[in-house]
Amino acid sequence: MAKEIRTIGVMTSGGDAPGMNAAIRAVARACAYYNVKCIGFYRGYQGMIEGDYSVMNARSVRNIISMGGTILKSARSKDFMTPEGRKKAADHLKEIGVDAMVLIGGDGTFRGGQIFSEEYNIPVIGVPGTIDNDIAGTNYTIGYDTALNTVIDAIDKIRDTASSHDRLFFIEVMGRDAGFIALNSGVGAGAEEILIPEEDLGLDRLLESLKRSKRSGKASSIVVVSEGDKTGKNVFELADYVTENLPDYDVRVTVLGHMQRGGSPSCFDRTLASRLCVKAVELLLDGKKNVMVGIIDNKISATSFDVGLQEDHGINKELLRISDILST
Ligand code: ATP
Repeated sequence: MAKEIRTIGVMTSGGDAPGMNAAIRAVARACAYYNVKCIGFYRGYQGMIEGDYSVMNARSVRNIISMGGTILKSARSKDFMTPEGRKKAADHLKEIGVDAMVLIGGDGTFRGGQIFSEEYNIPVIGVPGTIDNDIAGTNYTIGYDTALNTVIDAIDKIRDTASSHDRLFFIEVMGRDAGFIALNSGVGAGAEEILIPEEDLGLDRLLESLKRSKRSGKASSIVVVSEGDKTGKNVFELADYVTENLPDYDVRVTVLGHMQRGGSPSCFDRTLASRLCVKAVELLLDGKKNVMVGIIDNKISATSFDVGLQEDHGINKELLRISDILST
């Protein structure tokens, strides 16, 4: 029979994402509701290794639902990649009396959790918290919606100045391996072209498209570029390439960078975090383990780590077609 769960630990790990605080709040409040002790570990797996934690009750998480970042801090822990590091973490959990963990993070966090759980038989549930939206076991990750809104807000502002000076702006957004942010914000902000890691549109096509824009009377343009796009050039090299080949364009570059991770979470991300984390606690209390929670077709789902960690759920190619039509 599964061990009774009396104490649940929670931590945030990997890159931070808006909505992580709403997620921590939901874990702490759900634990209070079900009369389970809640322990918050600082700096992800590193806090488990070092025994750096606080006991959390319903009041410890007041007024954090609207805050960006994570009150538990986040980190990437090299020590947890080693068997010795994971042993230290397991020893601390045993010492403190933690029976199960809720892990809020991205695919790396889930991979570490899966290995840890198999080694030490400690039930874990993964909650997808990452702005990248690159996890197969859910349609949406916590933080993605807020990041999209931050990006389109920034692009709208850049468009104002682009249009005043008749300039072409290349705007780099986050997404080394996945183009979800670039594609969706690009369509949402009305970009002329969107360059993503999943599709190689080619430099010739980019030049053709920009020439067409000029011919059609457009004086300014926005091209959204994902960090990991397939042109083989970084955003500054791309800008130089276009300047060399299309000297009529006055080209500028903006790299949005870490601002995409910050800010107060959107209502969507707060609600998503709340739904997923209540479910995570309930699954642990029902004796479930080693799954990730997610939203699939607007229903909460529990997916094994093995399936949830497959590639990702794929970009919506229809959006590329829509973008093509609308940038006419
Ligand atoms: P993001 O998508 O925002 O980058 P992430 O959770 O994927 O978030 P990672 O840095 O990949 O971020 O992983 C977070 C932490 O999980 C790592 O710093 C490491 O401590 C742990 N981890 C990742 N992969 C493994 C692994 N194979 N074995 C043990 N621990 C791992």
